[in-house]
Amino acid sequence: MKVLVAGGAGYIGSHCVRQLLAAGHTPVVVDNFAYGHRGSLPAGVKLHDAGLADVAALDRIFAAERFDLVMHFAAFCYVGESVHTPLKYYLNNVSATYTLLDAMVRHDVRKFVFSSTCATFGVPASLPLVEDMPQAPINPYGQTKLDVENALRALAHAKTISCAVFRYFNAAGAAEDGSIGEDHDPETHLIPLAIGAAQGLRPGLQVFGTDYPTPDGTCLRDYVHVDDLSRAHIAAFDKLGTPGTALFYNLGTGTPTSVLEVIRAVEKVSGLKVPVKFGPRREGDPPALFANSAKAQAELGWKPKFMSIEPIVETAWRWHARKPAGYGDRAK
Ligand code: UDP
Repeated sequence: MKVLVAGGAGYIGSHCVRQLLAAGHTPVVVDNFAYGHRGSLPAGVKLHDAGLADVAALDRIFAAERFDLVMHFAAFCYVGESVHTPLKYYLNNVSATYTLLDAMVRHDVRKFVFSSTCATFGVPASLPLVEDMPQAPINPYGQTKLDVENALRALAHAKTISCAVFRYFNAAGAAEDGSIGEDHDPETHLIPLAIGAAQGLRPGLQVFGTDYPTPDGTCLRDYVHVDDLSRAHIAAFDKLGTPGTALFYNLGTGTPTSVLEVIRAVEKVSGLKVPVKFGPRREGDPPALFANSAKAQAELGWKPKFMSIEPIVETAWRWHARKPAGYGDRAK
């Protein structure tokens, strides 16, 4: 399939581009490099440097390429920032997505694969999270993703498109060959911050909260390898037949892992100490989030290759240990 990958130069999008190539598809990346990295794209992959709110650019791209399917990874993803600048999130994550969908439909491309998030659930009443549990986001980031989910439901109901929606738990890790990996600016995620602290590139790591009702008092999350996420997306292609289908999947390993367990994994894999400070809870962090991914396993034949934190951290470590100096700087 010829696949438009919106946000293909970002963390998850760039891993998916490689998985698409490995599966014999033809990815074409559309990215405006607001956060993505040119260095994350394999040589020879076609790139359009454009933003999704640019209707004229999208029309040119769709007219030139004749895509079979669109994958959409281009979103802002900082929960805290979304609380303070919600309009930035609604404009990019919602409005620009509708512009993309409109261009896609006008050019008669009817298959859509969307990156959503477990943040659409808010604070869950019970765990593990199953797809049809109530969704009540507690921040604008989660709300923007839920708004798009609801629009996609309506578009599928109207038989305008078919779509697969993936709600990621904690995307983590890096390409197994260490060629690409996570590199956010600013970085807010636990694994890259812990690795940076171990490497001495950061003064230390602050653990946000030690008084949660969990076995060691720190938050539990479900860390799922970025290549496993990508494989689930590609496995859904066959399910998107004629317009009218809307598929929703929670993607995680189902294994709850605490902040302290992540730190121990980083220390074991790197052989270095992570200098830790214990601090207060971070606003908006639910005590525990982990997935039931039985639906993706049953319907897509999806089986995560990385089932526990250590091998995931190993791939992240390999990437961070060899990341070219100034990699992030080349992004902009
Ligand atoms: N966390 C932490 N210190 C940090 C960053 C994160 O203790 O500097 C904790 C955070 O409170 C959460 C877990 O690590 O419990 C994962 O956070 P991350 O930001 O990586 O992902 P999130 O779960 O917010 O999507």
